Amino acid sequence: MSTDLAFRSEIREWLVQAPRPAGLHDYGPTPTPDDVQAGRAWQRQLADAGYACLHWPRDRGGRQATVAEQAAFAEECALAGVPRQFHLVGPDLAGPVLMAYGSADQRDTLLEPIRTGEHLWCQLFSEPGAGSDLASVRTRAVPTDDGWVVDGQKVWTSGAADAQYGLLLARTGGPGHGGLSAFVVPMNLDGITVRPLVQMNGESKFNEVFLDGVLLSPEALIGVEGQGWAVATATLGRERLSLGSNAVGMLKALEEITAAARSRGRLGDHLKAGVTDAWLGVWLLRSTWERAVAEGTEPGGPAFSVLKVISTTTYQAIGDLGMEALGLDGLTSELDEPLVDRMLVAHAQTILGGTSEIQRNILGERILGLPREPKP
Ligand SMILES: Cc1cc2nc3c(=O)[nH]c(=O)nc-3n(C[C@H](O)[C@H](O)[C@H](O)COP(=O)(O)OP(=O)(O)OC[C@H]3O[C@@H](n4cnc5c(N)ncnc54)[C@H](O)[C@@H]3O)c2cc1C
Repeated sequence: MSTDLAFRSEIREWLVQAPRPAGLHDYGPTPTPDDVQAGRAWQRQLADAGYACLHWPRDRGGRQATVAEQAAFAEECALAGVPRQFHLVGPDLAGPVLMAYGSADQRDTLLEPIRTGEHLWCQLFSEPGAGSDLASVRTRAVPTDDGWVVDGQKVWTSGAADAQYGLLLARTGGPGHGGLSAFVVPMNLDGITVRPLVQMNGESKFNEVFLDGVLLSPEALIGVEGQGWAVATATLGRERLSLGSNAVGMLKALEEITAAARSRGRLGDHLKAGVTDAWLGVWLLRSTWERAVAEGTEPGGPAFSVLKVISTTTYQAIGDLGMEALGLDGLTSELDEPLVDRMLVAHAQTILGGTSEIQRNILGERILGLPREPKP
């Protein structure tokens, strides 16, 4: 049996017998406030069984898992209908950043509570004027005798309302990449206000975060001053590890769409053609993902930009097909009707983790060798 198959059957066996915390479901990369309790308990179980933070080194409780093993784990969790981890930012962003750039004290105090689910982290990067162009971050951290004073605003901060810590990108120097530094921010500090944003589907996964005169200790700095850009880009793209496993949910959605349309007498030629196209898109995603994973491509690499574009456009097409299948029922049903929810959530997919336009720029420049985008 290949390592992949042996690993898969080990996970599958464990997933079959692992008790599910009450209310646990596959909520995606970030829990809603209602999902925090079940997600945290699930992470504890994953940690106890040795399945938390698979990619971390063994001396930090991980398994030093390959990209293929991590992707297989994500897919098996999707098949079992459970999240692959409590949340994305702690295990996939903050953890690896602290291991690469953090002080010994930061590593010793902050890593284990991420692994066990005790701490939820959020990513304080995007701002109203800094999304795709992250280097134009304006939140400022000014050095004082006692550490740093931070002032500014972040937005789209997933999980901030429940987070114990934030990974902050702030300006400590002049304009551009070189003027940025990264910090660990305890989210209960005075001067931090978290305001949840309500999404189209009624959930509140992300937030606005206001930082007004927030005092950070000198130990909050990650690495050295001016190293923020290296920290910010170190782990970009790790959320793309789950792109292949999205195929599981998409195939299930296509079955639901076909059933919904049939029961309403709406399975006409147009919908059948759409379902077939989407089905082809899912298999294109599946095989491109398998190839990238087999080649050991890192999730930040251009192959995963291809996957991000295929996955998110197919996801959106399936969202629209769901509405076509429901017909007028789609306009009058509750927001928690799964096909309506899927259509609403689909719109965020081409924005989060690097927009489709940015992925196409990367592909044009790095794979096709086209001229670089003109800078504004
Ligand atoms: C569900 C979700 C969760 C998120 N979670 C977090 C989080 O936890 N923490 C966090 O910091 N951020 C988070 N974000 C923010 C996300 O990183 C940004 O939305 C994303 O980087 C895009 O930035 P923007 O929204 O400012 O859009 P902009 O960068 O202003 O882009 C606007 C439009 O212009 C296009 N565009 C921009 N630059 C170019 C270019 N050079 N070439 C061609 N087209 C271009 C974009 O593709 C887009 O269509 C989240 C976003 C979503 C949707």
